[in-house]
Amino acid sequence: MGDGDDARVTGEAAGPSGRRTMDGCVVYEIGVTTASDFECLLVALDEGMSYVIDPPPFHTLAAILRAASALQFKTLQTWATRTLEQMWPSDISDLTEEPVPNAAATVILAKQCGVPKVLKRAYYELLRTSAFGQGSLDDGADAMDEDEEDEIQIISVNGRLESAMPKNATNQNKSGRTRLPHAEIVRLIETRQRLLADWVTAAAAPEPFKCSGAPSSQTDEPPAASSSAPSGSQKPPSVAGNGKPVACVAADRAANDAKWSRLVLRGQIFENYLYDPIIGLDQLCEIKWRQEGYCKKCHDARIDAWRRRQKKLWDNLDAWLGLPTGRR
Ligand SMILES: [Zn+2]
Repeated sequence: MGDGDDARVTGEAAGPSGRRTMDGCVVYEIGVTTASDFECLLVALDEGMSYVIDPPPFHTLAAILRAASALQFKTLQTWATRTLEQMWPSDISDLTEEPVPNAAATVILAKQCGVPKVLKRAYYELLRTSAFGQGSLDDGADAMDEDEEDEIQIISVNGRLESAMPKNATNQNKSGRTRLPHAEIVRLIETRQRLLADWVTAAAAPEPFKCSGAPSSQTDEPPAASSSAPSGSQKPPSVAGNGKPVACVAADRAANDAKWSRLVLRGQIFENYLYDPIIGLDQLCEIKWRQEGYCKKCHDARIDAWRRRQKKLWDNLDAWLGLPTGRR
């Protein structure tokens, strides 16, 4: 590298510990942040309470968090961390169909600055986003240099090795999209396959619930469809293959399959939530099964099974995505 020549020009030299120095001071390389991040940090110091009351946009918050983490502005770092965590809650009850922007940038930021609590929600947002938010392969502006893609550097804070980081602070490409490292993409592909397999099991066909038949008058009421039949006709909501009337659609396999086909398959729920099974299971629960002719026991059993499946899927994401557990 010609270190000796460079040192004479820049005033740099090797210190007693072998560490690079400049004008007698040890040089610390801080790669996780940039001068523009530092500008945002200075603005945040000026803004003070107004930022607490009205948090800045995501990219400003990210810049403040990077600068505050790298330069150890502890109070700002704590505030920025909590604000980011509020943007990306990890509880399943906070998940809605509404997309949250900047998920890939959040994953990079969370790993740079040590904010693991935001990862689950950010990863799920990527999982249900087309191409994980990385843009199409034929987009020339997004073409990656494979050698550059996985490039990382070791960040040194106060001379201590902290961790391996993407080489630039935001990891953005020319079109402004945040590029995810290859290992992250592989992890997302594998997790999406698992989610998809579960959704196909749950939604491609009705589960074979066994209906106990006629509802009991104490614990069950007739399905709404039968109660809405014209008075006097007493027409049941369905007729079994043997011609006998049944009190619940689930007791008749053909009728049950037809309902499922109309409500879930042709109703687009199956197709629309292939990559978002958590919300897809919400959609299954929200169908008016009682009005469709199912008895209360079948209705309750279905809802209960889907809620349990939903929670299990959400819990499984911790392992599939390699998330830290037990500290949230
Ligand atoms: Zn039933």
